[in-house]
Amino acid sequence: MSNLYYYPEFEIIRDNLKCIKCRNCENQCAFLVHSYDEKLNMMKEDANKCVNCNRCVVFCPTKAIKIVKNEMSITKNANWNMNLVKEIYKQAESGGVLLSSMGNPNDYPTYFDRILINASQVTNPPIDPLREPMETKVFLGKKNNKIKRDKLGNIITDMSPQLELSMPIMFSGMSYGSISLNAHKALAAASRELGILYNTGEGGLHESLYEFKENTIVQVASGRFGVHKEYLEAGVAIEIKMGQGAKPGIGGHLPGSKMIGDVSKTRMVPEGSDAISPAPHHDIYSIEDLKQLVDSLKEVTEYKKPIIVKVAAVHNIAAIASGIARSGADIIVIDGYRGGTGAAPTRIRDNVGIPIELALAQVDKRLRDEGIRNNVSLVVGGSIRSSADVIKAVALGADACYIGTAALLALGCHLCRACHTGKCNWGIATQNPNLVKRLNPKTGEERLINLLTAWKHEIKEMMGGMGINSIEALKGNRLMLRGVGLSEKELEILGISSAGE
Ligand code: SF4
Ligand code: SF4
Repeated sequence: MSNLYYYPEFEIIRDNLKCIKCRNCENQCAFLVHSYDEKLNMMKEDANKCVNCNRCVVFCPTKAIKIVKNEMSITKNANWNMNLVKEIYKQAESGGVLLSSMGNPNDYPTYFDRILINASQVTNPPIDPLREPMETKVFLGKKNNKIKRDKLGNIITDMSPQLELSMPIMFSGMSYGSISLNAHKALAAASRELGILYNTGEGGLHESLYEFKENTIVQVASGRFGVHKEYLEAGVAIEIKMGQGAKPGIGGHLPGSKMIGDVSKTRMVPEGSDAISPAPHHDIYSIEDLKQLVDSLKEVTEYKKPIIVKVAAVHNIAAIASGIARSGADIIVIDGYRGGTGAAPTRIRDNVGIPIELALAQVDKRLRDEGIRNNVSLVVGGSIRSSADVIKAVALGADACYIGTAALLALGCHLCRACHTGKCNWGIATQNPNLVKRLNPKTGEERLINLLTAWKHEIKEMMGGMGINSIEALKGNRLMLRGVGLSEKELEILGISSAGE
């Protein structure tokens, strides 16, 4: 790309007194930012190519490199920020749609940060999680409103299939293709160790991961890439992806540069071809159509697996969820507008959808008002960043949360938003074999286990502090939440009181 019109977004500052010319930075950078000038006997850099992934900074043995945001680019203007100006230059040059990745980075309010959690004091004492049992286990799936027993006391009511999780957290759908096989392996193995589930995303399932069946959710998206009978049977649940928080209203996109080798074989798409899943499922234009797909998937898997329907959080999400709950789906996933992705049009990512907190509160309320809340479990995703976000989501009505970006951060992601280039220097969002091997699946597994073990401890501590000893007792318990700096309307939508009340 030409840089006639703007300075690079990042400035690379190299301390030549510290630099020992080891060329580590050059070897670590797939974007070819660094090079060695033999004549001058010094390292050079092309800042235009830098995405600020920080790989060179971390791997420089003498800490000689610093990358800073280039603040010298244009005259300060409160209306036209540098990003907007740069995007106009880019489009004036290319005539194309702007592409990006990861989640919406814009400065919209994050409601989780404006909600505070309660703690017990005198009359309703806290529970000490180190000395008393705390139940973090959850079961996802349709719950029976009544249970019948025979004369001997045995339950004779048919129970819908349930998913068992050791804590209310799962890894969200990230396809093989958008992320590397090593990343998928780490997610699958960590799920098995933690007693939770990971999700294949829409790219099919690599044959080496079939052994993780008990911890796998297989996804069926509009492109039906990699979907066949064995695949549908290769997990404990099937997720129909109708929408995604990072790009509501449009389909998926895996650039042809990532469609190589096993990715192409697993997706059943020719090498080098872009895999573009359509915006709608071409057989679903109503709740009745959705019900047919739900029924078909249940039939083909002998009614043994819960069917999940995933949608993006959009303006009329409560009515949409009510329809899905009547389609026979067992679990509804709602993905908020900050959800991550491997590739999305920048305008869609940054401007479409609504915050997950508001969507969740309204969906939970609507399903309760209609008396169908027990027909489905609710899972939310779209930037769940910490154990506190999990607690708040559960108290707003979620049965469990999906995490995606947080899991990738644990694997080493530095949020550079260059996943769509296929050149992830951390070996996560790439299929380049030299980059893929930078992520050791065993190390990744351990880091994911550490992260969620820490979150589980924190969840127990926060629950104990509230005087609550099970996730079930926290679910939908909005009395445990208070809002700060929110309008009356926002508090009403969230169904919580203001701090001080
Ligand atoms: S990694 Fe650091 S020390 Fe090595 S060449 Fe690059 S800047 Fe110099
Ligand atoms: S996965 Fe890789 S390319 Fe994507 S944001 Fe993280 S570090 Fe950057």
